[in-house]
Amino acid sequence: MEKGIRIADLFREEQTWLGKTAVVQGWVKTRRDSRAGVGFIELNDGSSLKGLQIVTELEGRDYSGLLGQITTGSAILAEGLVSLSPGKGQSIELRAERIHLYGGADPATYPLQKKRHSFEYLRQIAHLRPRTNTLGAAARVRSRLSFAIHQFFQERGFHYVHTPIITASDCEGAGETFRVTTLDPARPLAASGEDPYKSDFFAKPAFLTVSGQLQAEIYALALGKVYTFGPTFRAENSNTSRHLAEFWMVEPEMAFHDLNDDLDVAQAFIKYLVAVVLSDCAREVEFFGRFVDPDVLKRLENAAASSFEVITYTEAVDILTRSQEPFVYPVEWGHDLQAEHERYLTEKVFGRPVAILNFPRVLKPFYMRVNDDEKTVAAMDILVPGTGEIIGGSQREERLDMLLEQMRLKGISADDYRWYTELREFGSAPHSGFGLGLERLVQFVTGIPNIREVIPFPRTPGHAEF
Ligand code: ATP
Ligand code: MN
Repeated sequence: MEKGIRIADLFREEQTWLGKTAVVQGWVKTRRDSRAGVGFIELNDGSSLKGLQIVTELEGRDYSGLLGQITTGSAILAEGLVSLSPGKGQSIELRAERIHLYGGADPATYPLQKKRHSFEYLRQIAHLRPRTNTLGAAARVRSRLSFAIHQFFQERGFHYVHTPIITASDCEGAGETFRVTTLDPARPLAASGEDPYKSDFFAKPAFLTVSGQLQAEIYALALGKVYTFGPTFRAENSNTSRHLAEFWMVEPEMAFHDLNDDLDVAQAFIKYLVAVVLSDCAREVEFFGRFVDPDVLKRLENAAASSFEVITYTEAVDILTRSQEPFVYPVEWGHDLQAEHERYLTEKVFGRPVAILNFPRVLKPFYMRVNDDEKTVAAMDILVPGTGEIIGGSQREERLDMLLEQMRLKGISADDYRWYTELREFGSAPHSGFGLGLERLVQFVTGIPNIREVIPFPRTPGHAEF
């Protein structure tokens, strides 16, 4: 099959391509004819935001008769001379000598005619929405970030560990899990007194993972520095613009690292990712600034340049209670910070990313290390303007007696977590880690308001299309 050059490469190497013949393949964004006997096709092949202008001759060419069938959405090949473009806003164009139509798109039924569509409308056509500028740009940024995540850790000696997607431990006892079973819900369960899981696939309750952390700890206490990066599932029945039932989480876990080291890694990580987006996705960021969120560039440059504000949970509560903001949820020591509180701190008070440390013990899961005050744990949340919480992490409890005490207080069966407590019996070591939600990160760097637009196929309550 004939392979053309990607349009992004053509633009990048335009000096060497000028005056040469190139072949490009892609989808037609727009087509218009001029009176002067020439026509213009804007072609996009998904490699870049910017399309290539194809100049066609309306008469006298082999393809001239074909032009009528080349409508918005059609897939075509065009071959021709790469030339300087007299049109404003574009450097080069392609003067078509040959055109091939792979597949047309009937203008009467093609749902993506050139105009602005609402995100809600586009969600219903998630099989076509990546062809729009905004969703295409979001997909490219997501891809670049995913690679950058691996780069950051691999360049720093972390090993990539694949933690299980099906798990028998539900990580935090949070209960927001999806059950994995082969039992038929229409059939009555086992007779009373019998173990209902006896005939189930794993012969015990099993779930989709809510986090790979506990398993990552196993490998951190063997390989030193590891990270997981994969899909994560939470059956939270909340329809917010920041929660999905299936999302991707990055979770580094590091032996011989305390909470301060954890914070240092998290900060370096965010800055690294922001710098990659600023340098490698500059066109996309500029586009998002124009059409989605006017503050996005300023926010990113600010995050790349300034160091994070670091405060304790107790200081955060003080700031919030002293503020005159009319919050919907009251602020009180011992209660979770709500999204409105997080955003107030990071957007209004500090105007940059904020790390909040040392949360009340009662609010956090059993595995977080208890501080000397015995009231708080060595937890860390990182908040960013526009998105709120993007990272949650902690130093893990490495002292066996304290861990067992925490499990007892939180009603977690030490028998079920024998493997986890054994890590503290044999060669226990201080260690810490954090989880970053990939979609929250993409929201932060693009300014896209709803999380449903930064993942190709969003899963939310009542929605699992495609
Ligand atoms: P939140 O308070 O925002 O619901 P959380 O405290 O439950 O988040 P953690 O358990 O700390 O989240 O998970 C680590 C990170 O994973 C979060 O900081 C966030 O970036 C991301 N995350 C958590 N839940 C979701 C979700 N349902 N959809 C998308 N990302 C999520
Ligand atoms: Mn959290």
